[in-house]
Amino acid sequence: MKIDNCIYMDYQATTPLDPEVSKSMEPYYNELFGNPHSADHILGWRSQQAVNRAQKQIASLIGSESEEIIFTSGATEANNLALLGSALGAAANQKKRILISAIEHKSVMEAAHALSEQHKILIEIIPVDEQGFVNLSKLYDLLNNDVLLVSVMAVNNEIGTIQDLKEIGKLTHKSGALFHCDGVQAPMAIDLDVRDTCIDLLSLSAHKIYGPKGIGALYVAHEKSPHIKPIIHGGGQQKGLRSGTVPTPLCVGFGEAADKLTKEQKKGERQRIEYLRDLFIDNLRKEEIAFSVNGPNTDSRHPGNANLNFTGCEAHSILLSLQPKLCAATGAACSSGIIEPSHVLSSIGLSEKIASSAIRFSFGRFSDEQQVAEAITLIKNAIEAHP
Ligand code: PMP
Repeated sequence: MKIDNCIYMDYQATTPLDPEVSKSMEPYYNELFGNPHSADHILGWRSQQAVNRAQKQIASLIGSESEEIIFTSGATEANNLALLGSALGAAANQKKRILISAIEHKSVMEAAHALSEQHKILIEIIPVDEQGFVNLSKLYDLLNNDVLLVSVMAVNNEIGTIQDLKEIGKLTHKSGALFHCDGVQAPMAIDLDVRDTCIDLLSLSAHKIYGPKGIGALYVAHEKSPHIKPIIHGGGQQKGLRSGTVPTPLCVGFGEAADKLTKEQKKGERQRIEYLRDLFIDNLRKEEIAFSVNGPNTDSRHPGNANLNFTGCEAHSILLSLQPKLCAATGAACSSGIIEPSHVLSSIGLSEKIASSAIRFSFGRFSDEQQVAEAITLIKNAIEAHP
């Protein structure tokens, strides 16, 4: 997709709204505007039906039941609900430790930080190796019956590492802790089944899967929901776990996006994106541009992720010189603007100086070979012009 002649290579920051998804949302902004919680009339029922259908579509993406999907404003809120909600739910018992991996998203890290300050929960960091894989033996050592929750993201947003969720889930459950997984980047990269992986809480976001911004979800396993307390109080919607009127059009868009993703994946979307990512890296090499790849070089990598280190170049100034022709990112979009070394890159052992040469390119549904070829020319010129 080219917007105003700009090549978009930042699909891990956000995806454009799929035109079919956008169309499916329209009636719920217009004639079908009823409040889904209005139980006394047809417009309310129609909205409620649409919300139920969206829950079903999202549930089918992750192998859960519809009723286990709780809508939130995005994955930031879902992550906060998972961590703060489980700490509130555990207030009476003795579990006072939470383990998070070193490369979690800021919304997990900061929620954990708030818990340690306000609720005297001890937060411990599970280290990762130089490719971003969680150190499983360290996790094993840290686990004990006083651990309340383990939080590990499925697929990293910066370097694309796909974790061994089955093993992490198994270890976590053996110790009696809850397993929370930030699954925001997962649907694009892997088939994720919450039962298979022992996930109790899974965060999702619509705008990473060609759905609308402003909506996400937390999957809460039936049997674990009594252990989670709300962080937003009000009318008791969504089983009391997340009060507030559910935004029907956004739910519909999220559901349709999930449904379309499944269909596109059956048609080989992941393989096509992986092919373009690999073509990009191979052709950059052919141009004899000096770079190395950050993160895993195995199959356990997001198919659309290329996090590259351009030796001796300042990533910010390269990206600036590529404006307005090419969109990519220096780190997680959420932390861009604050120029500080990415905690993900430092956790995998990169020095601040090396990390400042890293650019994340991410490919998606509307990427194509022509964009890859044009991007390479633009990057080559930008690097050659770099002081
Ligand atoms: N977790 C991960 C891994 C993400 O990539 C993001 C988005 N950058 C979030 C959480 C936050 O998602 P949202 O924008 O829906 O709040």
